[in-house]
Amino acid sequence: MKIAVLSRNKTLYSTRRLVEAAKAAGHEVRVVDVLRCYMNITSLKPSIHYRGEVLEGFDAVIPRIGASVTFYGTAVLRQFEMMNVFPLNESVAVTRSRDKLRSAQLLARKGIGMPVTGFAHNPDDIQDLLEEVGGAPLVIKLLEGTQGIGVVLAETRKAAESVIQAFMGLKANIMVQEFIKEAGGSDIRCLVVGEKVVASMKRQGPEGEFRSNLHRGGTASLIRLTPEERSTAVRAAKIMGLEVCGVDLLRSNHGPVVMEVNSSPGLQGIEEASEKDIAGIIIAYLERRVADVAHRGSRSRTRGKG
Ligand code: ADP
Repeated sequence: MKIAVLSRNKTLYSTRRLVEAAKAAGHEVRVVDVLRCYMNITSLKPSIHYRGEVLEGFDAVIPRIGASVTFYGTAVLRQFEMMNVFPLNESVAVTRSRDKLRSAQLLARKGIGMPVTGFAHNPDDIQDLLEEVGGAPLVIKLLEGTQGIGVVLAETRKAAESVIQAFMGLKANIMVQEFIKEAGGSDIRCLVVGEKVVASMKRQGPEGEFRSNLHRGGTASLIRLTPEERSTAVRAAKIMGLEVCGVDLLRSNHGPVVMEVNSSPGLQGIEEASEKDIAGIIIAYLERRVADVAHRGSRSRTRGKG
């Protein structure tokens, strides 16, 4: 196969590993910086131009689109789709997963366990909103945040009110969430490929930190998932319409709750913790899917809704 990896930087661990794995399996692979792609969308024959050349002949595309370039990145991915190149994750699913409210609404609608979550726009509604989500302690999240930045724990109602007021004053979009104290500063990353959790790890924040992000100094270790956690992760991926993703769970005293579904999960932490060739598993999955689609002749597979 000829595979395009949409990534801004070919030296990133995940990009490098996917390229290595694709080459090891005998494929031709090229890293394409989405921000250097330009295209003509009105022509009868859609095409993508890249640093003066025309990109063609690709069988599959692996999107590794960073949160900061979602808008342009998903437009480029959509152009590949218009050219009948098989996307490992579809552009609609990537876009959907980048909207935290939309994702939460979809997952809730399908009965996936989640922390009690609320959102509001007007400062006059803060009091009511705090009642609605069960009062302090609360976690307040910037909708645009990633890697734990913009996630705040407010231990008291007063603290929650002032943080929310501050964020609203800055015109930031936020959501307010029940604090899952019993998770003890840890979460579980499940790596879903197709209909399976192929690896999982527990991430634990440093002493005194409720956020477990590895970027915030968290450490990863192996963990055994319960059947309920496994099926929750697979269902969440399916609802989002993502074939490859990282599903982040918290162990709450009302069962596993989903915090986030990540459409470009980092591979370093999970490969190191699981000692598995996750990049190889992803490429093998892509081979099967491309063969399957070629066989059935159908390209349309938008599975998630909304
Ligand atoms: P980001 O997308 O920026 O990583 P998350 O929503 O994943 O933000 O939150 C970062 C970390 O904070 C999580 O990995 C988790 O450890 C902790 N966390 C987030 N929400 C809650 C919550 N409702 N209860 C307890 N811990 C939480």
